[in-house]
Amino acid sequence: MAKGRIIIDQDKCKGCDLCVHQCPVHILELDTSTTNQKGYTPLMVNDPEKCIACAFCAMICPDSVITVERFVKE
Ligand code: SF4
Ligand code: SF4
Repeated sequence: MAKGRIIIDQDKCKGCDLCVHQCPVHILELDTSTTNQKGYTPLMVNDPEKCIACAFCAMICPDSVITVERFVKE
């Protein structure tokens, strides 16, 4: 079960790859099938169920592309 999810503002992403290397569960990659408004290959999540909501990706991103939502236990 995912502990949270990330929201990616894809058009702000510059495809720098920094966040991809920060994710401890390796679920981030650049989406090579598309380009965003700026012409960059944007970030995508390849397996959202594995997200542990650690926010490492959001902290490293120089352009504040990523927002992390942590799910609250019922
Ligand atoms: S919040 Fe953590 S686990 Fe989730 S995508 Fe970002 S770095 Fe990976
Ligand atoms: S660190 Fe930010 S700008 Fe760089 S690839 Fe990740 S989301 Fe895009």
